[in-house]
Amino acid sequence: MAGDLFFTQEHDMLRQSVREFVERELMPNADAWEEEGFFPNSVFKRLGELGYLGLHFPEEYGGGAGDYFTNIVLMEELAKCGSFGVNTGVAVQVGMATPPILKFGSEEQKQAYLVPAIQGDRIACLGITEPEAGSDVAAVKTYAEKVKGGWKVNGNKTFITNGWRADFMTLLARTDKEQKGYKGMSMFLVDCDTPGFVKSRKLDKVGQWSSDTAEIFFEDMIIPEDSMMGEEGRGFYNIMWELQGERLIVAVAVIAIAEVTLQEAIDYGRERVQFGKPIIKNQAIAHRVADLATELEAAKSLTYLTAWKYDKGEYPVKEITMAKLMSTDVAFRVTDEALQIMGGYGYMMEYPAQKAWRDMRIARIGGGTDEIMREIIATTMGLY
Ligand SMILES: Cc1cc2nc3c(=O)[nH]c(=O)nc-3n(C[C@H](O)[C@H](O)[C@H](O)COP(=O)(O)OP(=O)(O)OC[C@H]3O[C@@H](n4cnc5c(N)ncnc54)[C@H](O)[C@@H]3O)c2cc1C
Repeated sequence: MAGDLFFTQEHDMLRQSVREFVERELMPNADAWEEEGFFPNSVFKRLGELGYLGLHFPEEYGGGAGDYFTNIVLMEELAKCGSFGVNTGVAVQVGMATPPILKFGSEEQKQAYLVPAIQGDRIACLGITEPEAGSDVAAVKTYAEKVKGGWKVNGNKTFITNGWRADFMTLLARTDKEQKGYKGMSMFLVDCDTPGFVKSRKLDKVGQWSSDTAEIFFEDMIIPEDSMMGEEGRGFYNIMWELQGERLIVAVAVIAIAEVTLQEAIDYGRERVQFGKPIIKNQAIAHRVADLATELEAAKSLTYLTAWKYDKGEYPVKEITMAKLMSTDVAFRVTDEALQIMGGYGYMMEYPAQKAWRDMRIARIGGGTDEIMREIIATTMGLY
């Protein structure tokens, strides 16, 4: 299938090692972490020790210098750990908050933030969303005012994954109040123990319980001059670059979860007997599974092909957006149908189907909603 074209023997070996790690060190704890609403920071440390947080980063920063498919292997295997929050927390670390440091950061910033992030010593979060700036990123109000020797930051961010546990934030803020919309924004790297960086609340969510999602306030937070990352005034454009990688990694992760969930439903359907035969032997159910497996494979092919282009240095915005839209749509429907196949048992907390269903809902919202994906696709097609 699609994977045959893109994965090499090295990828297979990596997959085997990650799988063994997941089975040995994550799976036995997954239910407890879900229950607690938090997975321990030591998971990042272990992943760092094993080299899994830097698979796709250059060797000079402690990375493995692998291609983008090494990241895909990591996401696909982590998806099987039983706690999707782990997947999301790690995705933010390797695929959202740190790639901008490699792309836009100074050498000093790479040493101070990227290297320890790859080692699992520092946990990263990404601060874009604000209460009044969700889909409309250009509405960001958090203001970094130039002061003697640095910047004074005021404002707040919400829905920040890893925000409760993070050591640093890759931050988007406005640096020029005169400039409206997407102009006048810049990026910063901020230590979360800076006075005025307030982790206000850990938010309760429908799903992905083991992943922490926080509300953050900046209250007269003074950060040094050299905490700006990239060129002043280019923040919006740089974050749009970041969002491409974010959407791709979301597409990969949700397909992986959906595949696991569909298999669980098939296994259940083979065991569950009603009217004297396994329920999967009803054509109504078997055909539904066949349709979903087909759609999943199509979403995966689009995602892999897009990842391949991205890895080759292309910037395929339309394809990435399509891959995110399609994968999250199919993945959500798979989890919904899986729950349906399991009937009342699927709705019970003691079975995993409900967890996948709850966990998957956010994928159609985070990193850009379905509607925004359609808007981008329509725009790149020249429909407006
Ligand atoms: C669990 C979770 C984790 C998250 N993690 C992070 C994180 O780590 N960092 C971060 O910065 N953000 C994070 N987010 C924020 C996420 O990216 C936003 O929730 C998302 O971009 C949507 O913004 P919003 O929630 O404000 O919805 P809104 O933008 O208010 O949208 C509400 C509805 O209106 C629709 N809509 C808006 N504009 C249009 C339009 N022009 N046309 C048609 N429909 C439109 C949307 O599609 C949506 O259906 C996270 C969110 C959640 C829930």
